[in-house]
Amino acid sequence: MDVIIAKHAGVCFGVKRAIDLAFTAARNYRNHVYTIGPLIHNPQVVKQLREAGVIVKEGIEDIAEGTVIFRSHGVPRHLAEKAREKGLQIVDATCPFVKRAHGFARFLSRKGYLVIVVGDQSHPEVKSLKSYVEGEAMVVSSPGELADWAGRRKVGVVAQTTQSLEKFREIVAICLEKAREVRVYNTICDATALRQREALDLAHKVDCIIVIGGHKSANTKRLAEICRRILGDTYHVERVEELNSSWFSGKGRIGVVGGASTPGWVIEEVVKGLRRMVSQGS
Ligand code: SF4
Repeated sequence: MDVIIAKHAGVCFGVKRAIDLAFTAARNYRNHVYTIGPLIHNPQVVKQLREAGVIVKEGIEDIAEGTVIFRSHGVPRHLAEKAREKGLQIVDATCPFVKRAHGFARFLSRKGYLVIVVGDQSHPEVKSLKSYVEGEAMVVSSPGELADWAGRRKVGVVAQTTQSLEKFREIVAICLEKAREVRVYNTICDATALRQREALDLAHKVDCIIVIGGHKSANTKRLAEICRRILGDTYHVERVEELNSSWFSGKGRIGVVGGASTPGWVIEEVVKGLRRMVSQGS
């Protein structure tokens, strides 16, 4: 049996940068180091950070002193202002690509466009992105949500960096029908798009695909969604213990992809477990 691992499986530039900044802060700062919510949507990394001294808090009101790390998804503007008011030391690990999207959202709103954010309303990145809109914003997670929308004269569109290009295109197409002027910034990150293309490609070539990453990770869930459309035998696992030998019975080729927040060592562990399981079954 062949196990084919996607070339770009695992952490992207922005997540790696955030993890490195957090470990450096834990090593170098003598005061307490906090994140508001988990730094990334990967429980194994969050555990390692906790062991290194990085404490997860629910909100800025729970932090009275010390250092706060802004996570790779970014934080809402009011929260960043609050951290400054409180005199906290700030380590800004917001991914530069997320910041770029903030800039476009603000620019569009300043120019009088209704800003449509293609993304999930409850995702931290979307909350932070929306906070940079200085006028009206609408978050749209699927084209169907615009079915009864009356439209607007000037519409600007940006996306959560982990959205699928296909969905983004469909929503832009509806905006073109319903608005006289549409300005689009494709803020989908290359790392995401690349992993999605590879996953799609792999799903066509294998009999079963394992998608590795946090169950709360939006980009990993999206990879699983994309693969599942092509291949019913798609399984999303967070850790090696979740593998099930029955998934591989009678399969000739197994594909492995990893989300942009999945560290290499987690992928290695799952692949080792997978090979072990397959060899025991044969
Ligand atoms: S997926 Fe892209 S935008 Fe998101 S953290 Fe990684 S590099 Fe940054």
